[in-house]
Amino acid sequence: MQPRDLSAHTVYQAGRGIEEVARELGLDPDDLVKLASNENPFGPSPAAVEAIREAAASASSYPKASHADLTEKLADRWDVASEQVWLGNGGDGVLDYLARATLEPGDAVLVPDPGFAYYGMSARFHHGEVEEYHLSKDDDFALTAETVLSDYDGERIVHLTSPHNPTGKRFDLDAVEAIADETSDDTLVVVDEAYGEFADAPSAVELVRTRDDVAVIRTFSKVYGLAGVRLGYGIVPEEWADAYARVNTPFAASEIACRAGLAALDDDDHAEKTVETAAWAREYVYENLDAPTWESHANFVLAEVGDVLESDDSRASQNSERSGPASEVADELQHRGVIVRDCTSFGLPECVRITCGTEAETERAVAELNEVLSS
Ligand SMILES: *Cc1c(COP(=O)(O)O)cnc(C)c1O
Repeated sequence: MQPRDLSAHTVYQAGRGIEEVARELGLDPDDLVKLASNENPFGPSPAAVEAIREAAASASSYPKASHADLTEKLADRWDVASEQVWLGNGGDGVLDYLARATLEPGDAVLVPDPGFAYYGMSARFHHGEVEEYHLSKDDDFALTAETVLSDYDGERIVHLTSPHNPTGKRFDLDAVEAIADETSDDTLVVVDEAYGEFADAPSAVELVRTRDDVAVIRTFSKVYGLAGVRLGYGIVPEEWADAYARVNTPFAASEIACRAGLAALDDDDHAEKTVETAAWAREYVYENLDAPTWESHANFVLAEVGDVLESDDSRASQNSERSGPASEVADELQHRGVIVRDCTSFGLPECVRITCGTEAETERAVAELNEVLSS
C-alpha cells in the first residue's frame, strides 16, 4: 500500500529555524540573528499576545463567533461583503481553497519563476498542472504585464506576487488590470499581497471590488508577526462568495488565531513600527552592503553575493541544493551567527535574501556579510 504517485511533487523548503541552526553549530540561540524567513523582528503585536493568552481558556469551543467577527472586521476594513473574505490557515491555506474552488483535474496554473514554491505545490495537490513565466535578472526581475502574458496559455489561475518574493519588486495596478483584461474569462488572477503592507502602493483589492476575475491574498504572518499562529485571508470576487462554504476546512482558522488576528488589526503602533523599520533597513542594506541589491518593496532585500558564471564548475552545480556562491556565503554567515535565506532553491544560486531586522540585527547582518564577502 502506497500513497498516490507524488514524484512530481516538491517539498517546501522553509528558511532555517534558530533552534535548528543553534543545535547544529553548538551556539546559543540568543546569539543568533535570524533574517531568513521574512518574519517580524519585533515578534507578534503585544495586543495579539494578550489576546492569545485570554483565548486559551476558550480553546475547548469551535471558533464560531471569533471566525465571524474577524471575517466581518476584515470585510469592513476592505469595504467588501463578508462573504468575499476567506479565512485560511495562513495565506498558504487560502491558496489551497482557491485551487479547490477553481481547478478541475488537469487544469493548469501559471506561476512565476523564480517565485513562491507553494503556488505550484498547491495546484499539484489539487490535480492541476503547473506552467511558469520567467522573471529575468537581466531585466532586474521586472514585473510587467508582458512578462506574464508572453508565457500565458489559457491557464485557469495566474499567480502574481506583489511585492514579489524573493525579488521585492511589485506590479503596478495597471499591469494587474491589463493581465486580467488580456487573459480568458475563465482565468482567475490571484494577487498575493503577503508583503502588501510594506509597499507604498494601492492594493489590488481595488480591482476585486469591480471585477469577477481577480482575487487577493493577505497574511498575518509578516507585518503582524503571527507566522506561528497560521492566519491569512483571501478577498475574492462577489461572484465567488458562496464557493468558500463548499471548499473550506470547517473552522479554517482557529479560535486562538482569530482572536490574535482581531487584536493585531487594532494594533496600529506595532504595524507602523514594523513597516517603518523595514523601510529603514532596506535603505541601510542598499547603502552599506558590499554587494549588488535590488530595490525592494517588502521586508527583505535580495542581494547578489557571487557570480555563478565565474567557472564551469559552479555552473554545473546550479541544480544541486547545497552548492554555489549563495549557499557558501549563507553557510559561512551562519557560522558567524547570522541566518539569511540562500536562494538556491528559488533557482538563484548566486543570491541571498536578507530579511529586514531590527536596527541592531540589520547592522550586524550587513557587517558580517561584508566580512564574508571580503574574505
Ligand atoms: C509568507 C508568504 C505567504 C504566506 O505565508 P503564510 O504564512 O502561509 O500566510 C504567501 N506568499 C508569499 C509570497 C509569502 O512569502
